Amino acid sequence: MQDSAITKTELQTRLHSLESKVSELEGNLRSGHSANFSEQAAERENDEVMERLEVEALGEVVAIRNALDRIDADTYGICTGCGEDISEKRLEILPYASCCVTCAK
Ligand SMILES: [Zn+2]
Repeated sequence: MQDSAITKTELQTRLHSLESKVSELEGNLRSGHSANFSEQAAERENDEVMERLEVEALGEVVAIRNALDRIDADTYGICTGCGEDISEKRLEILPYASCCVTCAK
């Protein structure tokens, strides 16, 4: 298994970039709207897209924070469903996976 210190650094880097992305999206969402009616409609549509991106990013932020907690608790890489080791391959693709392929189904 990969050195957990390396995984931790990678997850923290990813977490920071997600957090700055979220605050950027927040900034855009909170910015004022145009007084023009048709422009307002376009802006609202744009807001919906950004909100979706924000929800997605926040979901990943939570997953990464949980993964970091598991590294600290020394339970990283262990499936929260069945208690078996999560395969290295799965962790490579999804470093913050909390359960194995079987339990994720
Ligand atoms: Zn499992």
